[in-house]
Amino acid sequence: MLLREVEYARPESVDEAVRLLSGRENARALAGGQSLVNVMKTRVASPELVVDLNGIDSLRGIRDDGGALTIGAMTTYGAIVDSPEVAAARPILAEVARTIADVQVRNRGTIGGNVCSSDPTNHFPPLLAALQAELTIGTVGGERTVSTDEFFEGVFATAVHPGELLTAIRIPAKGDARDGWASATLGREGTGIVSVAATVSGSNARIAIGCVAATPVVVTASADETAVADAVKSAELDPPSDVHASADYRRHLAAVLAARAVRDAQ
Ligand SMILES: Cc1cc2nc3c(=O)[nH]c(=O)nc-3n(C[C@H](O)[C@H](O)[C@H](O)COP(=O)(O)OP(=O)(O)OC[C@H]3O[C@@H](n4cnc5c(N)ncnc54)[C@H](O)[C@@H]3O)c2cc1C
Repeated sequence: MLLREVEYARPESVDEAVRLLSGRENARALAGGQSLVNVMKTRVASPELVVDLNGIDSLRGIRDDGGALTIGAMTTYGAIVDSPEVAAARPILAEVARTIADVQVRNRGTIGGNVCSSDPTNHFPPLLAALQAELTIGTVGGERTVSTDEFFEGVFATAVHPGELLTAIRIPAKGDARDGWASATLGREGTGIVSVAATVSGSNARIAIGCVAATPVVVTASADETAVADAVKSAELDPPSDVHASADYRRHLAAVLAARAVRDAQ
């Protein structure tokens, strides 16, 4: 289907992008376009103005700051996969990015677009929740930084409100922590049915479960299989049933994959 007529702007700075986004009621940021253009084609979204972020160099790149990583919102999955900084500081980011969809999506799709979509089946929301990432949002005249708990507000809803822009994601230094991932997907690089990320520090595990609620569900437990399974059961998950999996099966997968993600971390 053809796109509805839409105005297009390509700013070169964050300030200019925020000014454009906040100056119009129905303006949307364009990152990799791998979700936005599809929903525009089906007319699920019909912005009047698209603000293309691809001309803003400061939004791209990965900086290692003593083991903590600052990743620009416009950094693509491909750049994360190839990054020596990621490989040294937090390789799980590359391991997960490598499994997203196909080469085209990995070349165009961005970490910022992934989390701003807040699609419960996306890979990065649970991963960033497990890693306790901090997200910086550019606003008119300033910026604010929020945790993943504050960032993910619901399905397709985040703390980036109209007229604002996600600029960067900070992943804290790993210290003695180890990270793991386990998921059940539709096909090898397909959409998640349930995805789980885990960070294990000493004998404690922080586990974030995706695809079982509107936003990632975080549980903490001792890093042994029985404690992890018990913690997931006590979370009383209420996942959706759909053509791919019943709610009961998703609940079962969540416990199995949480144990697997913790084992992967160890
Ligand atoms: C065939 C296919 C399969 C896919 N499979 C998966 C999968 O298995 N797992 C997965 O995680 N993803 C998957 N995706 C989605 C893909 O990862 C998208 O790239 C991602 O959801 C959006 O990133 P983007 O950079 O393309 O953002 P866009 O599509 O450009 O934008 C998405 C949304 O975020 C907003 N936005 C983007 N950047 C910012 C910003 N910096 N500040 C404020 N708002 C912003 C846009 O306005 C828009 O509302 C798939 C996509 C396709 C086409």
